[in-house]
Amino acid sequence: MRNYHYRTLDELEVTGKKVLVRVDFNVPLENGEVTDDTRIRAALPTLRRLLANGATLVLMSHLGRPQGPEARYRLAPVAERLSALLGQAVRYQATDGPASSAMQEFALAAPPGSVTLLENTRFDARETKNDPELARILAGYGEVFVNDAFGAAHRAHASTEGVAHLLPNAAGLLLEREITVLGELLRRPAKPFKVILGGAKVSDKIGVLRNLLEIVDEVFIGGAMAYTFIKARGGEVGASLVENDSLELATGLLEQASSSMVSLHLPEDSRCATSPQHPDDLMVFPSNRIPAGFRGLDAGPKAIAAFQAGLADAHTVFWNGPLGMFEFPPFDAGTRAIAQTVAALDAFTVVGGGDSVAAVNASGLQDQIDHLSTGGGASLEFLEGKTLPGIAALSRP
Ligand code: ADP
Ligand code: MG
Repeated sequence: MRNYHYRTLDELEVTGKKVLVRVDFNVPLENGEVTDDTRIRAALPTLRRLLANGATLVLMSHLGRPQGPEARYRLAPVAERLSALLGQAVRYQATDGPASSAMQEFALAAPPGSVTLLENTRFDARETKNDPELARILAGYGEVFVNDAFGAAHRAHASTEGVAHLLPNAAGLLLEREITVLGELLRRPAKPFKVILGGAKVSDKIGVLRNLLEIVDEVFIGGAMAYTFIKARGGEVGASLVENDSLELATGLLEQASSSMVSLHLPEDSRCATSPQHPDDLMVFPSNRIPAGFRGLDAGPKAIAAFQAGLADAHTVFWNGPLGMFEFPPFDAGTRAIAQTVAALDAFTVVGGGDSVAAVNASGLQDQIDHLSTGGGASLEFLEGKTLPGIAALSRP
């Protein structure tokens, strides 16, 4: 894996300075309200530290994938929630983008000690192109730059990568913790190191699996991706979700696992139905003998028991991806059972991935997991061993 070099927050002089902070406030909204503020809360330690040290903050974040300025992607609800959490008014003005002339006037008028939230960086089409002119305007809002947006660190955008080249900079506390924890998993995990991978698409997780197979002792595969592996081994998976394009890749990964002496477990049985919305015909079948018309929608009882037994002696666990269609109870049972198991382990436990973290939160187990990664795509790319441009752009101490 790559070794990153960056200044920590303590190594950056911020007193009396305007600090431009890239945060990840890409939160879910419904009817103009923030429905899950985990990511806003995750940025608070850095923001509080900077304010306590006498900084003036100018914050920038993207939200969603707007095509230009779109009212429903404005950061107004985020500013409101941040204000409440911080206990301090957050300056915000709805404009066409982070670099509009109204925004420039507003941001440059920030009084000492204030917190200003810029409009959604993706309102400006130049953001995702890492345009130097946009980076220059954003950098003009601060005297130093802090990147605390781990969830966006795998993107080379103007607000993540571009600005880092233009100002003295440092990693925020959240970014630093993510790099430390995930880096530890790749470098010197306490053994046995066991990984649970679930979710929908094998193709999303191939890179991670490939890289982790060289490090881990055991892998447990669940969720829809298991059926691609089971089919690749010649099983009958009925109407379960299968990526037919990835069958060869799955075979290759099974071979890699056996030549790396990693035991790779697939769910022995599955809880199946003809549709997730109509669980009245729920039945348990061996995962390699699912009848036509039935879909494997959750891990079965034998599979869960085997995964639980296999995890018991782990000293490090990384979990990404739910074991079933947990949004549709009763197909959340396997995911909930594994969440309970992981939470109760006497091991260093890390959960990454938007849906997996949501499942942990829904079970109320968030305090019993050592690290919940705030970056779905970013944590996967990190564990794949890829270089994350948002971190790589930070300067050496
Ligand atoms: P994460 O966000 O934690 O990385 P993914 O996005 O990879 O996880 O996968 C989550 C999705 O996988 C959920 O929407 C879930 O419904 C789906 N999923 C899990 N198991 C199955 C299954 N057996 N059949 C269909 N979809 C599944
Ligand atoms: Mg997801």
